[in-house]
Amino acid sequence: VSKRVMRAEKMEVVSHLASSISHEVRNPLTTVRGFMQMMLHADLPEHKRNQYLTTSIDEVDRATEIIRDYLTFAKPSPENEETLNLKQELERTLQIITPLANMNGVKVETNLEDVYIKGEEQFLQQCLVNITKNCIEAMPEKGKLSIVTKTERDKVLLKISDNGKGMTEDQLLRLGEPYFTTKGREGTGLGMMVSMKIIESMNGKLNVTSRLNEGTRFLIELPIVEENG
Ligand code: ADP
Ligand code: MG
Repeated sequence: VSKRVMRAEKMEVVSHLASSISHEVRNPLTTVRGFMQMMLHADLPEHKRNQYLTTSIDEVDRATEIIRDYLTFAKPSPENEETLNLKQELERTLQIITPLANMNGVKVETNLEDVYIKGEEQFLQQCLVNITKNCIEAMPEKGKLSIVTKTERDKVLLKISDNGKGMTEDQLLRLGEPYFTTKGREGTGLGMMVSMKIIESMNGKLNVTSRLNEGTRFLIELPIVEENG
């Protein structure tokens, strides 16, 4: 199963998202506030207090996840483009995701070239972290995350692949749809939407291939620029 992502209708949705995101964040905050108010009562039994605290921590984590996945759109994109060394950027991404990879027993393999692209570092990082994080999350037990770049004339192909649970045809079709997640309360369903938007903004292309129970491959094509370009 393969999919080329450049769907205009998906991008249109993005402009309507800001208000619904703030709503999404407000929900957990309201819950936490309610629990804190209940905890003000001095005669609250210990087990109730613990239950309220646990739920509150979960809710705060959820708000953080939503903000993290959505970060790009919280900040209107100014013209902060610069020339970026893709290899250095990927090494930075690896630093960020290594703790998560270790926690999941995921091995990371890389083969990276020094190649230059144009983009905003913060956005590129967000995109790379979202995609690699999804790969790691798809490999609950001992997987392999592979990150390879290959230069071809005026573009670079960045291949990020996992040997995790993969996606069904329907899941692949819905990838990037706002709030589409198979992770229940653990997921936001915003990461891929944001990542696709970022790749598009860099004049890049994304091609995703997936096989259920075998793995998923993200092929990102980006235009190359001169080192001092
Ligand atoms: P979230 O990670 O919060 O669920 P995303 O937008 O990042 O939201 O991803 C949406 C969904 O796409 C995931 O819930 C998962 O079902 C699917 N997905 C994304 N990447 C992968 C992958 N590498 N392997 C398998 N499924 C994936
Ligand atoms: Mg995700």
